[in-house]
Amino acid sequence: MFYHSTRNAEPVVDSARAVLEGLAPDGGLYMPEFIPEFDWKACLSGSAQEMSAMILSALLPDIPNMRQLVANAYTGKFETEDLTPTVPVGGFTVLELFRGPTSAFKDVALRMLPQLLTTAKGVCGMEKDIMILTATSGDTGKAALAGFQDVPGVRITVFYPDGGVSKVQRAQMVTQEGENVNVCAVYGNFDDAQTGVKNIFAACRDKELPFMLSSANSINIGRLAPQVMYYFKAYRDLLDRGAISMGDEVNFSVPTGNFGDILAGYIAKLLGLPVGMLICASNANNVLTDFIRTGTYDKRRPLLKTTSPSMDILVSSNLERLLYLMSGCDTALVADLMGKLNTAGVYTVPANMKAAIDQQFWAGCCDDAGAAKVIAGVWAEQGYLMDTHTAAGWMAAEEYVAETGDRRPMVVLSTASPYKFPAAVLEAIGGDLSGDEFDQMERLEAVTKVPAPQNLSTLKGKPERHTGVIDKEKMLEYVLSL
Ligand SMILES: *Cc1c(COP(=O)(O)O)cnc(C)c1O
Repeated sequence: MFYHSTRNAEPVVDSARAVLEGLAPDGGLYMPEFIPEFDWKACLSGSAQEMSAMILSALLPDIPNMRQLVANAYTGKFETEDLTPTVPVGGFTVLELFRGPTSAFKDVALRMLPQLLTTAKGVCGMEKDIMILTATSGDTGKAALAGFQDVPGVRITVFYPDGGVSKVQRAQMVTQEGENVNVCAVYGNFDDAQTGVKNIFAACRDKELPFMLSSANSINIGRLAPQVMYYFKAYRDLLDRGAISMGDEVNFSVPTGNFGDILAGYIAKLLGLPVGMLICASNANNVLTDFIRTGTYDKRRPLLKTTSPSMDILVSSNLERLLYLMSGCDTALVADLMGKLNTAGVYTVPANMKAAIDQQFWAGCCDDAGAAKVIAGVWAEQGYLMDTHTAAGWMAAEEYVAETGDRRPMVVLSTASPYKFPAAVLEAIGGDLSGDEFDQMERLEAVTKVPAPQNLSTLKGKPERHTGVIDKEKMLEYVLSL
């Protein structure tokens, strides 16, 4: 099975090479030529780690020893050995993806990526160090830093928008230990940081560097593939609870930014898992809601700061993979649409593609006030505390059910611990906001009795090791100086 760019069917590379490179040479994203035959029922009978190994072996067949790599990535690292527990809440099921070492759903992928990448490096005979470059709107940065800390043969640089992440998220990153890690703030917003990283890749394409550049963003297939597992895991939990019978379809509502998480759900479906509708949830930055509802993607709008910053985004990278799949793998069309996005800032997909998207996806969005209302309501009625991103997913799920009457079981993906965004969560449930974010974290714990994750409650007072801020034009220079 080979991989090629979403923008060109040639050249092809094997799956190890696709993981190693991250981004295809033409700027497109790597996709498999076809989705392999997969025994999805057998997959459902395994543990979370076994599910992960089976799925990853199918999607990345050139990476050997997958069971061992999965064990290295996950054993003893998550709060629960089943990695991603589910909790029935009201009429829905919440899939808790934030039980990893940095309390981000991105831990699921970023514990695994270093294993995949270092193995791929060996398979490809690459001797240089790898330099991971990552732009983060908050959670990716810390999860990537923790995942790659002191991994031999790999270095990592994380850029985050100055003032664009929460205080807790910033503290998580700037206190990161490890000999191979760099963290730097950039004046600008997340899209500036992400564009800056893309520009560095472009500028370095033909340069002889002491390291090979790669990416930990979900543009890397090695970051995306590990996320498929938890859709299977959620399905299995529903089976175990007797909430569904084998073969019943389940809907999933996914708080969405770069479209990686929700795309992993669609890949689960392509592998055979009975996934019904995939609901794409956004905050006030609702470029994806508009796209899924109208077929027109229009990034010409201001980026708003919200209480769910991990979804504050105008250019959603993995949507390119969806366009590829929904066009019947029409690389010329994808290249054309991406060109339009780049030059005009807007594109419209053909009617048949819009119809194909409508079959699989539904979209909803809510603003900060809407998310706060959900947090307060679910806390008051169900005693379940959720974060602002999860609240957007919950709201979209409710809207979907109200609008369509679809009564298939609904899983809402919970992408962050409420303690990642203590101010917004505390405010939503009517708490006192005085003090800084760390005081708010303690107060949230005192008021709700929901235990704060240890990695967050022990952050306060840790020494700051990475305090630089640079202009976005200086990002290339910064990397070359490392
Ligand atoms: C990254 C992130 C998202 C968005 O996930 P994508 O895969 O980029 O769509 C949602 N919520 C939280 C808390 C995140 O960290």
